[in-house]
Amino acid sequence: MKQTREFAQQLIDFCYASPTAFHAVASTREILEQSKFVQLHENESWKIKSGGRYYLMRHDSALIAFVVGSAPISEQGFKIVGAHTDSPGFRIKPAPEMLTEGAYVKLNTEVYGGPILSTWFDRPLAVAGRVALKSKNPMQPQIRLLNIRRPVCIIPNIAIHMNPDANNGFTPNKQVDTLPLLSTINQKLEEKNYLSKLIASELRIKETDILDFDLFLYEYEKGCLIGSNEEFISSSRIDDLSSVHAGISALCKVTRPKATCVMACFDHEEVGSSTMQGADSQLLAEVLDRIVIGMKGGREEYFRALANSYIISADGAHAVHPNKGEKADPTSRPLVNRGLVIKLSANRSYTTDAATAATFIQLCEKAGVKTQRFVNRSDMRGGSTIGPISSTHVSIRSVDIGLPMLAMHSIRELCGIEDHSAMLKVIQELYQG
Ligand code: ZN
Repeated sequence: MKQTREFAQQLIDFCYASPTAFHAVASTREILEQSKFVQLHENESWKIKSGGRYYLMRHDSALIAFVVGSAPISEQGFKIVGAHTDSPGFRIKPAPEMLTEGAYVKLNTEVYGGPILSTWFDRPLAVAGRVALKSKNPMQPQIRLLNIRRPVCIIPNIAIHMNPDANNGFTPNKQVDTLPLLSTINQKLEEKNYLSKLIASELRIKETDILDFDLFLYEYEKGCLIGSNEEFISSSRIDDLSSVHAGISALCKVTRPKATCVMACFDHEEVGSSTMQGADSQLLAEVLDRIVIGMKGGREEYFRALANSYIISADGAHAVHPNKGEKADPTSRPLVNRGLVIKLSANRSYTTDAATAATFIQLCEKAGVKTQRFVNRSDMRGGSTIGPISSTHVSIRSVDIGLPMLAMHSIRELCGIEDHSAMLKVIQELYQG
């Protein structure tokens, strides 16, 4: 129990340190560096050794880490876990400052993915992301991560007296109702440039060096354990940083595996994955190919390796809601802290089939972890995930699973401490077993 709680607390720390996909990759990299993983670069030649521990990053927001197995790669293949680094929220637009009433400075923002908008109101918000600066070589701009870890803005609700529909199906307009308030001023806005001044002072650079930014709002407050027995984790970005955290923690514990163990953390799942660093790219296929090449293997070894491989695509799963039980399927009803969820869909929005589920169930049994089932209600469409998308790029058997959670895509999501440890155990079983 103590270990379970500690691991849950580590997840809370990890989510707090990772307000954006860029920071998720940076925090992951820090964990990997502590465990003596060596960084590879896509534009360099790779020297891969049996038993070696390596990682690479793409565009600062996707990361693949791996431990090379001792057995021939064509025979043992790859044991892969896939997850995503991004979460829904608000991205700050270029030229973001807007002045209203001659006094309020607001930030112009755009919605990223599908957040539950109402959960973002009246919360202290901070700003994080990356900033591109002037450089000697225009092909290689200087990139700096930025995390303004202070409550710098807020999206105030409109008083119920002025919005009688506040509790009656109010639909916020994304260009009007959700713009955060940054400051009040007396002077003209042109003289101010509040955001770039903030960025420049935070990074200790000249304001004129800033060329562009990828900045997002995030919840300032840190997550916490919650419940009468502290059995829940309440935090931003549990979807899908919990899988990234469990997967990387498992990979760091691997010692001398037979198969090559891979943890793939993709960006842009929340907006469809179709980018160079998303699951709908050649990223995973290229890395696996280069591992085989690095081990002096040929095309046949590569394809034999794929045929002997297995992917666990790990992403959040919906637990039955305590107040809205009717939203769940009548017979498959996953609950928080009752085990990992195998996700199945007749229209193949999940990769799971009976054979890949059977592999996963047996891995869980060996790891002492319970499993539950998720299917959508037949009259609801449900979401998708990285599994089916990455399967179109690499021909590897795959299962879609996840942590049962509540309030998915809320600024504050909820899951169970037992399930997070269960995820660690089954991934360790996959890698090491
Ligand atoms: Zn997700």
